[in-house]
Amino acid sequence: MRKAIFFDRDGVLNDNETHVNQPKDLILYDGVKEGLRKAYEAGYDLFVVTNQGGIELGHLTDEDLKKIHTHLEEEVKDYCHFKEIMYCPYFKTDSEDRKPRPGMILKLADKYDIDLKKSWMVGDRDTDITAGLEAGCRTAKIGRVDPRAQINEANLSDRNKKRKVDLEAVVKEILKEC
Ligand SMILES: [Mg+2]
Repeated sequence: MRKAIFFDRDGVLNDNETHVNQPKDLILYDGVKEGLRKAYEAGYDLFVVTNQGGIELGHLTDEDLKKIHTHLEEEVKDYCHFKEIMYCPYFKTDSEDRKPRPGMILKLADKYDIDLKKSWMVGDRDTDITAGLEAGCRTAKIGRVDPRAQINEANLSDRNKKRKVDLEAVVKEILKEC
């Protein structure tokens, strides 16, 4: 079995102050590419699991989102490879895939033979942490502390405080824990 890191997208990889409805809206935080490379080189399979209820709400289409994710893959291609970028398009419709429910993580784990006990969910909302815990992953929280998470970005002493989000420091901490 393989080990994986599941990343939330908005607020973890890219700035989410405005909605990301087209490729040019997706701006990666500083240090994200380097953090992803560290995780990839350490042998983790990398996934993105993202709620994109804006599709059901009509803010963007599946095709728009695919273009955004092609752009994301292009942006990071010299650093890492995402095994799959999975999204939940629902907002109003009940779905086991919409975080805080763990459906996306469980499906990817099954598809790619992932050992969830050795894997991590990284997110900026408590719903990400809930989904990770429900799936049986370890969890890392970006931003405000969540006491349920093993790693909290806000508590990391080597965090680069000039960065809005220091994913690189979080990945370093994940690699230390293993
Ligand atoms: Mg988020």
